[in-house]
Amino acid sequence: MNALAATNRNFKLASRLLGLDSKLEKSLLIPFREIKVECTIPKDDGTLVSYVGFRVQHDNARGPMKGGIRYHPEVDPDEVNALAQLMTWKSAVANIPYGGAKGGIGCDPRELSISELERLTRVFTQKIHDLIGVNTDVPAPDMGTNPQTMAWILDEYSKFHGYSPAVVTGKPVDLGGSLGRDAATGRGALFATEALLAEYGKKISDQKFVIQGFGNVGSWAAQFIHEIGGKVVAVSDISGAIKNRNGLDVPRLLKHAVENKGIKGFDGAEPLDPKALLLEDCDVLIPAALGGVINRENAGEIKANFIIEAANHPTDPEADEILAKKGVVILPDIYANSGGVTVSYFEWVQNIQGFMWDEQKVNCELKNYMIKGFQSIKEMCKTHNCDLRMGAFTLGVNRVARATVLRGWEA
Ligand code: GLU
Repeated sequence: MNALAATNRNFKLASRLLGLDSKLEKSLLIPFREIKVECTIPKDDGTLVSYVGFRVQHDNARGPMKGGIRYHPEVDPDEVNALAQLMTWKSAVANIPYGGAKGGIGCDPRELSISELERLTRVFTQKIHDLIGVNTDVPAPDMGTNPQTMAWILDEYSKFHGYSPAVVTGKPVDLGGSLGRDAATGRGALFATEALLAEYGKKISDQKFVIQGFGNVGSWAAQFIHEIGGKVVAVSDISGAIKNRNGLDVPRLLKHAVENKGIKGFDGAEPLDPKALLLEDCDVLIPAALGGVINRENAGEIKANFIIEAANHPTDPEADEILAKKGVVILPDIYANSGGVTVSYFEWVQNIQGFMWDEQKVNCELKNYMIKGFQSIKEMCKTHNCDLRMGAFTLGVNRVARATVLRGWEA
């Protein structure tokens, strides 16, 4: 099932549980605006090349639309649409005053030079600058983009509208980025995992973890888990997969990954078939890379008791059903990875106030938001007698529906 069909399905299940009126249901589902632009740039060798860029603005009932910009060869309109919708529910679950959006360019950023990436980002910004803004739509990094990308967007946007640091989040700290933003998705996933495990009388330090992805989310999650005594027994990234049943030395692995542009060849582990990674024996599985990786083909063979969705949409609905039958507990993406957008919100607040928080305040506020989010999801699970995914969806959809009705949606 593609990402959009899966997301729509989860939304509709939540809408039925909430008893939403069919007109309201339809209005919540259809995106506010879908933008498709062609970005033509000269390559370093002088030839011209075109890429297609998207920005889908899903909903703004609770505030400016918010969400990352992804550079990846598989970016397509349906996926961006699904991810934009997920951002709407995610912001609402986190209870931050935003709606949802997502953008992307269908390109392989590893095949572009730094100056080509800069040109591409500037052209994309020129094409969407009048549709984003501090109070309308605030982009952030996602797969394949980073603080430098945000710095270029900020610079290009400012040429048209004057210097406006709050138009993007996830910026370099020197340009008004928040302390703690880089690590926020991984740190948030850690707080979320702690909250979930506590429900079952378990702690990070007595669990074995497998992490798919060792990028900006997975590598931070691995570090935090390792720091508090959890055992990371296998990880993968684009270069390959590795395992060590006694637990990987994560700080040394990080150093290796930076020096070698990937985890492959790490001497403190044995190689593993990347396809077998998700099926490795462990207590907690953390998909922290691409969407759709847990599906009907592999769900039946997953050994973990808990799945923490640090990636967006890693589990498709068919896998959800198989895993539920096996008693596997899934902490859904719209909560588990909401630490990133939550600290984006703190960054936006700091930019608007012109007052910078220290990192301790950022991390402490993040913890409060993650704990509150989990409690609110549990309440919805009780009210609607449903699993955590539906608990999170009903929470998010209900908050957006209430805001929509209060603002008066029947024009
Ligand atoms: N790209 C991240 C996400 O999917 C962060 C979005 C943001 O900070 O706006 O949640």
